Amino acid sequence: MKNKVKMGAIVCQLRVARNANMEKLQNGYLFPEIGMRQIMHMEKYPNAKIISLGIGDTTEPLPVFIASAMSKYSHQLSTKEGYQGYGAEQGNKELRKAIAATMYKDMGIRDTEVFISDGAQCDISRIQLLFGSNATVAVQDPTFPAYVDSSIIMGQTGEYMSHTGKYGGIEYMKCGPENMFFPDFAGVPRTDIIFFCSPNNPTGHAAAREQLEQLVEVATRNGSVIVYDSSYSDYISDESPTSIYEIPGAKEVAIEISSFSKLAGFTGIRLGWTVVPHELSYSNGFPVHKDFDRIVCTCFNGASNIAQRGGLACLSKEGRKATKNLIEVYKENARVLTDTFASMGLEVYGGTNSPYVWVYFPGRKSWDVFTEILEKTHIITVPGTGFGLGGEGFIRVSSFNTRECIQEACHRLQNFLG
Ligand code: PLP
Repeated sequence: MKNKVKMGAIVCQLRVARNANMEKLQNGYLFPEIGMRQIMHMEKYPNAKIISLGIGDTTEPLPVFIASAMSKYSHQLSTKEGYQGYGAEQGNKELRKAIAATMYKDMGIRDTEVFISDGAQCDISRIQLLFGSNATVAVQDPTFPAYVDSSIIMGQTGEYMSHTGKYGGIEYMKCGPENMFFPDFAGVPRTDIIFFCSPNNPTGHAAAREQLEQLVEVATRNGSVIVYDSSYSDYISDESPTSIYEIPGAKEVAIEISSFSKLAGFTGIRLGWTVVPHELSYSNGFPVHKDFDRIVCTCFNGASNIAQRGGLACLSKEGRKATKNLIEVYKENARVLTDTFASMGLEVYGGTNSPYVWVYFPGRKSWDVFTEILEKTHIITVPGTGFGLGGEGFIRVSSFNTRECIQEACHRLQNFLG
């Protein structure tokens, strides 16, 4: 151990090299960078009332019915009869059954295929661990950054190519208005894993049935596994599929990750699930399900029993009604935002099947648009390039805020940008 003297104190420095994969991660992860710019803006305009339409965190309080179920269960834990310690690593049987029956009705998903998690983001990394550092990966561009970042951390990337922002081992599949937000697979080399998020964060696009049929067809032809993220499926209002398992043949090629975060406002409670069908097997015939079970038992140990009790309440008849009402609040906010940007003559996407509105500013840089909106209206948005180079020229506007703040934001946008 090397010792250095710094400001009068001894600072120890390890003889442990930094994980080279961590060095490959791009500096200034999106949200900390936005946070820093927000602080600088507050210093410049101390009296400004900043409205955040940036980070995708839920804002509405939990339905009383769901909070009460958790608090009643917590109270039982303080009694001799009601105390429970570790549960099954794969999750509470009743909850696994409820997810299979409610979220995958008529799709042939069995409760034994559902693994309860502490959130979709955590399972994205466990899936990476499952397939290992030699797996090659394709992602939509733009999309939720955790797929790429977890690939990089796993070392799936080969050499770092900083100037292009691209890495070996990762294929970026451009998804924009010009291709109906769906990749042109003819130009995408085969990869082991295809991450696919629908409705996609940030574009808000929910893939149509024909698009998902094509996705399953490509994965089947190439022997690739689809990791399908349906975290926003409850926001779908049209006839777009809510799960990849609506598509025939998907059970042989797809894992689905999902979450109670945006479905029920559980971002802080932490609860999600992953479906690994029994039909899914590796090139040597070994069931993927068995390996995922092993990963869950080794690296996780099961979700909080209080959160799982809340999940069960969400999936009851009363809970479903309450969570759908919550989602309606955000969707109405998204509609108001969409109308506002459209009335300013801008191209607006997303919104109808998602809490996110994706706005196009042709010929502009995303960070410049972000800065101009912040400077003129004191509103925080997210620059599209934070989700991949394919997001250049766009900003993501989130509907996760109170109706009053959304209305105030729309008023400012019309006055200062309209
Ligand atoms: N997947 C997508 C597409 C997301 O947008 C998010 C969060 O914003 C997550 C997963 C993370 O979900 P969780 O809170 O369940 O970890």
